[in-house]
Amino acid sequence: MRKQNSMEQKALRIIMNEGEKGILQSELWRRMNATSREGSRISINLEKRGLIRRERELYNGRWTYRLYSKKQPVSIDSIITCPCLTCEDSDRCGPGGKINPNECERLTRWILESVAKDDPPGGE
Ligand code: SF4
Repeated sequence: MRKQNSMEQKALRIIMNEGEKGILQSELWRRMNATSREGSRISINLEKRGLIRRERELYNGRWTYRLYSKKQPVSIDSIITCPCLTCEDSDRCGPGGKINPNECERLTRWILESVAKDDPPGGE
């Protein structure tokens, strides 16, 4: 069980690193030194957990799957404009406080503008 979890984490890291282009599952198995049976189990588990999506693809005349991560690592570019980075109230801001992120107009505006630009904070 523990080995399975670490294999899944390793697979997810590789898939995430491939970004929007995804990775063919056969390439993933090769990089992980996994059999296709082990690999299929891993990708099905990751999909069931909502961490990746699998799309059928015809490759070299055979149907296979390309795997995409549903989450991407946070990039500096995606948070560089966050108002918290330059906020003069950041020392006093925190959950449960008088100044807090849940009620911050600047933060809410920034999130909404990021979503409108199809550039969700922290990436997706
Ligand atoms: S949530 Fe608002 S008040 Fe808090 S640090 Fe960010 S910008 Fe400042």
